[in-house]
Amino acid sequence: MLPLVPPQIKGFFVTFKRLFQKPVTIQYPDERREVSDRFRGIPALRSDPDTGRVLCVACGLCEQICPTGAIVINVAPTERDEERNLVEYTLKLGRCMFCGLCARVCPVDAVTMSQHYELASQSRDQFFRQKGELSVLGQDEPAYFQQ
Ligand code: SF4
Ligand code: SF4
Repeated sequence: MLPLVPPQIKGFFVTFKRLFQKPVTIQYPDERREVSDRFRGIPALRSDPDTGRVLCVACGLCEQICPTGAIVINVAPTERDEERNLVEYTLKLGRCMFCGLCARVCPVDAVTMSQHYELASQSRDQFFRQKGELSVLGQDEPAYFQQ
């Protein structure tokens, strides 16, 4: 049994012990924590490093599999029957639950789960990410799933 020590003294003792330990907090946003390789941040679009062209072949699978309807794509036919053009690709971030299914089904690994996680915004428009922004987010990102 510990002798009766006033709670204030116990509190000071805990504080005193912590004075000499390394802080567990970081100076965000100047410092950022590394996230794990398997972290699922904002879904992003990958591009061909040589041409800069988005890898998406406009198959529509990600739009169909998304359980929350967060992806809306608009495609146009091309002169070649087997090809379609990706005209628009919209990600409604407010609906996304970061499940990764869109990245899982993509046949060409065009969608990946990026390491970007900062979503706070005062503008509603920021929750609608378009093809251009998504391809900037995904430009250095590896494929999330190896097909
Ligand atoms: S991560 Fe899941 S919820 Fe988000 S866009 Fe992809 S399939 Fe939809
Ligand atoms: S699944 Fe991949 S290739 Fe198909 S529309 Fe989505 S991003 Fe494009």
